[in-house]
Amino acid sequence: MAQVSTVDLVKEDQEHLFHPLHHPADHQSPKVWVKGEGIYLWDAEGRQYIDGLACLWNVNVGHGRRELAEVAATQMAELAYCSSYAGATNIPATKLASKLASLAYPSLNTVYFTSGGAESNESAFKTARFYWKANGKPDKVKVIARQHGYHGVTLAAMSATGMAPYWKMFEPRVPNFVHVQAPYPYRFEGVKPGETIGQAAARQLEEKILEEGQDTVAAFIAEPVQGAGGVLVPPDDYFPHIRRVCDKYEVLFIADEVITGFGRTGSWFALDRWGVEPDIMSFAKGVTSGYLPLGGIMISDAIRQAVLSAKYEDRWMHAYTYSGHPTCCAVGLKNIEIMEKEGLLKHAGEMGARLLRGLKTLEEFAAVGDVRGLGLMAAVELVGDRSTKAPTDPTLKIGPRVQDECIKRGLYTRIRGDIIMLCPALVIRDEEVDRIVDTLRDALQAVVPERA
Ligand code: PMP
Repeated sequence: MAQVSTVDLVKEDQEHLFHPLHHPADHQSPKVWVKGEGIYLWDAEGRQYIDGLACLWNVNVGHGRRELAEVAATQMAELAYCSSYAGATNIPATKLASKLASLAYPSLNTVYFTSGGAESNESAFKTARFYWKANGKPDKVKVIARQHGYHGVTLAAMSATGMAPYWKMFEPRVPNFVHVQAPYPYRFEGVKPGETIGQAAARQLEEKILEEGQDTVAAFIAEPVQGAGGVLVPPDDYFPHIRRVCDKYEVLFIADEVITGFGRTGSWFALDRWGVEPDIMSFAKGVTSGYLPLGGIMISDAIRQAVLSAKYEDRWMHAYTYSGHPTCCAVGLKNIEIMEKEGLLKHAGEMGARLLRGLKTLEEFAAVGDVRGLGLMAAVELVGDRSTKAPTDPTLKIGPRVQDECIKRGLYTRIRGDIIMLCPALVIRDEEVDRIVDTLRDALQAVVPERA
């Protein structure tokens, strides 16, 4: 890329480009990223940062992988793009689909490709409705999602997303999306005597299904670990109970593994840990480590059968121009090969445990209310009062100030309010994990030095 003046570039950007979640207050002096290598990013000023969130939870194999650039160049020169509409296919899409079938849950053997997470969830919702119509239950159309869930921001995905700020200026939401409480151990409410949080959260799902009417509910959607909502790790008994409730009321379980897939929690897909299989799984992000846009859904053999046996006039009329994009799929295949060759799943598990151990030492600060994580996803939640878990005074802007202090010290990451979220590339090494912890410690020392 030709050299450009950063000042001129930012001016040009501000004149012509809107960004996700755009507001000028957040875009007065944007970082201009110019280079990436491993877990690091460089800005146009030549400053190096640890990429604390693997950009947007997605650069799993790290930046600067020449193999991925080369495989993309080779595929582009050969056949950059072709249609994958029924009646045509291509080599990388087919090879990646069968590779995914070998890696995913045993009952998920069929893939439909999209270009990202929201498109995947839209595909999942439509496929759930299709399945019930094909099975003579056309009224099963509703989707139950969870508070703090993030499923993308196209209209239906936004309606599943359980964070009100994403809705406010775009209401009304798509009808037939409702929410239940998330299994957020630190702040869960409504546990009855003798119940675990996992049981209580599953009971609340059951109550919601009954309230809505079992014959109207198509699916329940959940991220195995809620990412953008603040890295909310469910208790171990939650998903087994959820699976039982879904089975009892004939509700399809959609696992949104857009963040948790592809090694993030130490296995290919996160529900493995709890011995649970979904009916539909959404994926994106880590499938190409963000090198090219790609996502998809994987469907159970039962749903596959519903599509295969539909009458022609009732066929699955769902489509995207870029479904099965050969270049994106070629990069996906190479990305998975890298993860296998370098043993990144096991490594992510080990580095994640080290990160969590390190972050736990930050509990020495009075403002640290909760430290949580699974694999290489972790968060530190700050509070105003540890004994009551009361939030910090919003006028003090504690979270953003801690974030700024991290950035000053070369750690770039995202926050949700007072939750500092971390999700580095899976290639991170011991000393780099420790540097993240030390940097956050210094940032907390600068903003909230009181000890517990
Ligand atoms: N689901 C989850 C769990 C996500 O984290 C995201 C993106 N952060 C999405 C869906 C939406 O993906 P996209 O931005 O590619 O539409």
